[in-house]
Amino acid sequence: MQQFPCPWCGLRGDGEFRYGGDAGKRRPEGSVSAEQWAAYRFYRANGKGRAHELWLHADGCGRWLEIERDTLSHEVIAARPLNP
Ligand SMILES: [Zn+2]
Repeated sequence: MQQFPCPWCGLRGDGEFRYGGDAGKRRPEGSVSAEQWAAYRFYRANGKGRAHELWLHADGCGRWLEIERDTLSHEVIAARPLNP
């Protein structure tokens, strides 16, 4: 099990968190096609290495955080609150 450092609760098992997507993605503005919306909503780069991700501490404080981690080594490099 991997552990994530929640800024409010401390170090917790990853089973308490829900993945919320890539942190760098921007919601498309204006009128978009179904394909553009699907690309935003469902497609992930899923690259190897460092990633910035959104996580919800669903079984804890219920707050959102951004985690920078290495998807190969599972090292958590940084964690910060989204709405401090
Ligand atoms: Zn928490």
